[in-house]
Amino acid sequence: MGMETKTYRGRVEVKADGEQGEFSAVFATLNVIDHDEDVTVPGAFGEQRVLIEPWNHNYQAPPVGRGTITEDGDQAVVNGKFFLDTDAGREHYTVVKALEDMQEWSYTFRIVDGDIGMFEGTEVRFLRKLEVIGVSPVTEGAGIDTHTVAIKQKRPLPSHSTATTDAAWDGPANEARARSGEDEAYYKRIFAWRDPDGAPDVKASYKFVHHMVAEGGAPGAANIRGCQSAIGVLNGGRGGTTIPDGDRQGVWNHLAKHLRDADLEPPELKALDSASDGAADGAGDGEGEAGDGKPSGVPLRDVQVQLDILKLSMEV
Ligand SMILES: [Zn+2]
Repeated sequence: MGMETKTYRGRVEVKADGEQGEFSAVFATLNVIDHDEDVTVPGAFGEQRVLIEPWNHNYQAPPVGRGTITEDGDQAVVNGKFFLDTDAGREHYTVVKALEDMQEWSYTFRIVDGDIGMFEGTEVRFLRKLEVIGVSPVTEGAGIDTHTVAIKQKRPLPSHSTATTDAAWDGPANEARARSGEDEAYYKRIFAWRDPDGAPDVKASYKFVHHMVAEGGAPGAANIRGCQSAIGVLNGGRGGTTIPDGDRQGVWNHLAKHLRDADLEPPELKALDSASDGAADGAGDGEGEAGDGKPSGVPLRDVQVQLDILKLSMEV
C-alpha cells in the first residue's frame, strides 16, 4: 500500500572519476511546487539507502544497483552504483550512459510525514518526511502519459466562496438530493473531499457534504451548521473520519473559509498526533482514525512526481 512515484526529466552528465558503474544524479528540487502540487521540504529525504530499480520500476526483476540519497541545498542527490557483475546491471549502466538526457528518472516513495498548507499563495501538500524505496530510469514521457495522469490523489476539494446559510442542517438529506452521474465541478459545490480511488462522476466518491442541495439537485449555500458538524467529524466526533490524516487540514480549510465568510470563528482543527502516538504505544485512546495500526499520524500514500536528473555521472 501507499507507494507513489515521482518522475523527472533532465540532462545526464558523465564524469571521469569514480568507480566503474557509479553515478550521481540530482533527482529532485526542494522547496518548489511540483506538478502534483506538492512541495518537498528540505530534510524530507535526509540520508537513506535506496535500491536502483530496473527500467520502468520493473518490480518483478531484481534491483540493478544500490545507492544513497543525500540533500545538497535545495537539491536531492542520489549516488548509486550499478551491479556490473550482473547482466541486468551492466545492461542498465550501458543504456543509461548512452541515453543521457533521452530518459527520465522516477523514484518510489512513501510519505512518512506530510500535511496540507499554503505555499506562495497556493494550497499545496507539504512532504516533510519521505521514505524512498527505489530510483529507476524510465522511458521518456512515460511518467507523464501513463503514471502521472493516473495518479491517485486523495485531496480536499479547493476552498471557495459561496453564500452561507444558518438554516437547519440535515447532511444525509442534502446528500440524497445531489444528483448521480455529474462531474467533479458539480460535486465540488457540495462536498469538501474526493476519494480518487472512486470515479469522479460517482457521488459516493465524495465526502463532507456541507452545502444545501435543492430538490432536483442544484447546489446552494454552504450551511453553517453543516460546516461546524463536519469539523466536529474531522476532530473525531461521531466516529471520526476515514480520510487520510494528511487531508484533514485541507478539508478544514475549505469548511473554515465558509464559516469565516459568515463572520464566524471556525472550531480549531485538533491535532491527532498525540492520539497516533498513543496508538503506537498500544495505549489505544479511542480516536477514530487511529484504528488501522499506522505508526504515524500521516497516511502512507502513492504519489507520482517528475524528477529532473541534473547530473548523472559515471566512469567509462
Ligand atoms: Zn464548500
